[in-house]
Amino acid sequence: MSTLHTLKQQENNINSIAYLWMDGAFLPASPPLSLFTHGLHYGTAVFEGIRGYQNKAFELKAHLERFLLSSARLSLPCPYGLETLIEACEILIMRSHLSDFYLRPLLWTGDRTLGISSQNANIHTALLLWHWEDHFSAIHKKGGLSLMPSDWLKPSSRSVPVQAKTSFLYGPNVMSKAEIEKKGYDDALFFDHRGRVMESTGANIFFVKNNALHTPIPDYFLNGITRQKVLKIAEKNGIKTYQRDIFKDEIETMDECFLTGTAYEICAVSLIEQHHFSCHQTTDFIKKSYQDLVEAK
Ligand code: PMP
Repeated sequence: MSTLHTLKQQENNINSIAYLWMDGAFLPASPPLSLFTHGLHYGTAVFEGIRGYQNKAFELKAHLERFLLSSARLSLPCPYGLETLIEACEILIMRSHLSDFYLRPLLWTGDRTLGISSQNANIHTALLLWHWEDHFSAIHKKGGLSLMPSDWLKPSSRSVPVQAKTSFLYGPNVMSKAEIEKKGYDDALFFDHRGRVMESTGANIFFVKNNALHTPIPDYFLNGITRQKVLKIAEKNGIKTYQRDIFKDEIETMDECFLTGTAYEICAVSLIEQHHFSCHQTTDFIKKSYQDLVEAK
């Protein structure tokens, strides 16, 4: 059983410790969801994942802007503007007194209609906040994540709205994660129909070769906020970066590999299928620089 799988079991009790804002009100507990919820049937929902450090959300505005863009992309306009959402998040965080937390904005189509059309659907918005359990220190201790290629290919941006963080895009991620965990790996690595490296189930990917960063172009996958931070860290520190097509057979020529994401932060990869990465020198530097950023007051 993978380490991430074991640690995930701790998430099962989050309902009992979550702080909640929904449709304009702070609530003591989650209201029951109707079985006729349109978003539950068709995956018409958008969400965000935001980390909080020392009682402050990291990159709150950037995440909420992406949340609003995702909802607009799906033609499901959020009933609340950026300022209102920021204020609701800040009050929720203050009320929780949590130092390290995870904040999950969620928007979905309600139970007014169950036809495919979302034209007349009512739209709900919620903010869920809970204590952040450290899922990754065990991974860092064992030297990094093990990845296994997914059997599912990333669809093109002509097929799905790749820059929207929408629930219906996560089906292959959930399936792949379950499949590779059964084989004892931590995470799945996606490729596209041309064999280009894409991303993992919840993070972007970087390789290091001769002290330079190589990372795929985010044309068929989410251009993560953490990914963009890493590119800035590299630029500031004179580390060369190549955003380019990276094919599967190149992986074994790379010196290092790491994943980037709000939850993963900067997480070394120790294994892709049978290929080991034992050096993490540049990864450790990026990881430390990112840590300095999130902890900066
Ligand atoms: N790709 C996927 C599929 C993700 O779910 C995430 C996490 N949001 C990322 C990449 C990384 O994005 P970010 O750095 O904005 O968290």
